[in-house]
Amino acid sequence: MISTDLYQAAQLLYHNQNVAIPTETVYGLAGNIYSEKAISNIFALKNRPLVNPLIVHIGSRDQVEDLTIDVSELAQKLMDKFWPGSLTLVLKKKETVPTIITGGKDTVAIRMPNHPLTLKLLQLLPFPLAAPSANPFGCISPTSASHVDHYFQEKLPMVLDGGSCQNGLESTIIGFENHQPILYRLGAIALEDIENEIGPIAIKNFEEQHPNAPGMMARHYAPNTKTIMTSNVKEVLHLHQGKRIGLLLFDTKITDEKIVHQEILSEQGNLKEAAANLYAALHRLDALPLDVILVERFPDNQLGRAINDRLKRAATAKNTI
Ligand code: AMP
Ligand code: MG
Repeated sequence: MISTDLYQAAQLLYHNQNVAIPTETVYGLAGNIYSEKAISNIFALKNRPLVNPLIVHIGSRDQVEDLTIDVSELAQKLMDKFWPGSLTLVLKKKETVPTIITGGKDTVAIRMPNHPLTLKLLQLLPFPLAAPSANPFGCISPTSASHVDHYFQEKLPMVLDGGSCQNGLESTIIGFENHQPILYRLGAIALEDIENEIGPIAIKNFEEQHPNAPGMMARHYAPNTKTIMTSNVKEVLHLHQGKRIGLLLFDTKITDEKIVHQEILSEQGNLKEAAANLYAALHRLDALPLDVILVERFPDNQLGRAINDRLKRAATAKNTI
């Protein structure tokens, strides 16, 4: 059921149920972090491996203290600058944080989302919410209430409708090792913007070390239709004679009779707008009877880098030319 009833969402969550919640990144599948029932149901609904940790969503800064120990000044500075917002911080956890949330690790990933409805919900509840993206494991992330409803239907008691997600990409994840900041996942806040605040950030090839981490698996965020990523869409078009082709492009249309449908993510060439439109465009393309989706490689800076990361994963494995 899709609804805007905040109080009903709070009631359900209070009673160990799951509710999909809007955030500025993507919709999350939420549950009380202290409810074993609610958390195991998140893993079951998503079909997500239990070793994969969940991001904890909080509505006020005091809650960081309830969840963590040894928060550095650097981490505080990032919270001051980017919260509420699309930055997740991986911090040392208190013993009271259930290990089912952290995949058995001694760290916990925390974020204060920047969505008015969800902030209000979090402030109403006496516990934080674990909320991975509200999609089955490996599928395209949801950026609207109807995307979530389409995935889970009656298996989920409620989708709290907060409109389309403004940023439309998952959060950027930063952790700390030996007091140095490390980027674990590119996301809705450009790495350059974070480096402007705190200086250079090392990028860890998370994939090699944690091959099972969600969003880090080679094939993820993936359409069912064969998807090919290329820097030269026109050239690859010629390799697909007789095929029904869909295109996902940055800012400029292409004219060719093989094209059944094309999505332009930002006619102005604005990366933020393109990011916000990315998943909805992939959902639309994947719903059409196409043989192949060709996606254009984005400029490899700012949010273009995070978009390329998602497109690469969407186009991996069964989707190589
Ligand atoms: P999501 O599916 O968007 O909730 O993604 C969760 C992401 O947070 C995954 O990529 C995890 O690898 C990362 N994450 C969560 N908890 C931790 C942790 N304790 N240490 C490192 N990464 C984490
Ligand atoms: Mg996800």
